[in-house]
Amino acid sequence: VTQESRPVRTAAIIAVGSELLTPFRSDTNSLAITGRLNEIGIEVASKQIVGDDPRDLATAVTAALERADLVVVTGGLGPTSDDVTRPTIARMLDLPLEENGEVLERIRQRFAGRGLAMPEINRGQAMVPRGATALANANGTAPGLWIKVEHRRVLLLPGPPREMQPMLDVVVREYLAPSSGNMRLYRRVIKIAGRAESYVETLAQPVYSRWLAADPRISTSILAAPGQIELHLGIRSDSADRARMSLERAIGQLKAVLGLDIFTDDGQSLEEVVGGLLRARGWRIAVAESCTGGLTSSRLTDVPGSSDYVDRAAVTYSNRAKVEWLGVPEDLIRDHGAVSEEVAGAMAIGVREGAGVEVGIGISGIAGPGGGTEAKPVGTVVIAVAWDGGQRVQAFRFAGGRAQVKFQSSQAALDMVRRWLLEQPQSAGRRA
Ligand code: ATP
Repeated sequence: VTQESRPVRTAAIIAVGSELLTPFRSDTNSLAITGRLNEIGIEVASKQIVGDDPRDLATAVTAALERADLVVVTGGLGPTSDDVTRPTIARMLDLPLEENGEVLERIRQRFAGRGLAMPEINRGQAMVPRGATALANANGTAPGLWIKVEHRRVLLLPGPPREMQPMLDVVVREYLAPSSGNMRLYRRVIKIAGRAESYVETLAQPVYSRWLAADPRISTSILAAPGQIELHLGIRSDSADRARMSLERAIGQLKAVLGLDIFTDDGQSLEEVVGGLLRARGWRIAVAESCTGGLTSSRLTDVPGSSDYVDRAAVTYSNRAKVEWLGVPEDLIRDHGAVSEEVAGAMAIGVREGAGVEVGIGISGIAGPGGGTEAKPVGTVVIAVAWDGGQRVQAFRFAGGRAQVKFQSSQAALDMVRRWLLEQPQSAGRRA
């Protein structure tokens, strides 16, 4: 049976490693593998995690072979006795293990490159099941293995992600893509800030329920987190142009119902979007943060090139800092409290004027778990955006723990800036 005889449509993934069954390590390889396989139109039908136990692995492989055209096993290829993958698979498939001179030489050279002799224990990694293709490991000693079993394929990849990834790329490019036809998965990621999942679902559901009947079908998944909703649109097609057109039309339909709530239709982060809008106008921003402790400016500066538009940020946690650094009037804090529209506004104005830039942000709130009152419970956050000649202030009540309140606050602040920027004429030019 040749490689070309039957295209691979479905895959099963098995992650091997007892450490993956503890709370300290998670199986990220299967996510990376799924992503790469999806791109060439292969769907992952199941995945499993098993410990370093030959019987558990054999059971998992047997089930996977019944279910899928391709079985990918990651991990357990090392030289130690708890690395069970190679011998177990060879035994299951009834393939004798034979020493492969080329692989042995590659392992020897890897050690020699560091001035070391190869430990005898590594010799086992040169044992290749008869008929299997050994895959070179650019970042380690364990070779991967590509095995054909009648019309199915079994792929063994090392566990360490930096060894697994480049090998996976080679296999996808050289073994899987050529026989996959032109079928590919095309994706677009839409993101929405500051709306509840139920709100987005109510508006979007009627739109994407229509797509289920469309040909080709557009699949959607909704990923919700506090402060951000993502809609992942996918389409399997043998034509890139047609897929792109269908996705573009679908996104147009979502925009018609969700409007400006959508901050990106191509997977950008909110800080990237805000950065792009500032850059387009040649404007700069300064941030004054209290309860977010610098998170907003940290996110803004996560974007490469942000020095073009981020001028400065102040973490003014205490009242004294707000007075000394931002010039917030003391009586404003006394009369209204630090978490108030008046103080957040004065923070935004103070940091903007101090910096002499076009846009200022002020954030003041109660991240919890302590510090809440009846009038201002935990999660109360006031955010202001200030510009030359005006300001906009909004009070929020966020749910969740401290980290979630902080994230939602930075998200709301960036989204307020985004919405304000979108209202400004493109050609407004510098205004400080
Ligand atoms: P080697 O022994 O040559 O390093 P291996 O194939 O035997 O490779 P393992 O011993 O199973 O790999 O795992 C080595 C390390 O790789 C683990 O400690 C873990 O940190 C990481 N790893 C293994 N499997 C996964 C996985 N599925 N996802 C993410 N990381 C993994």
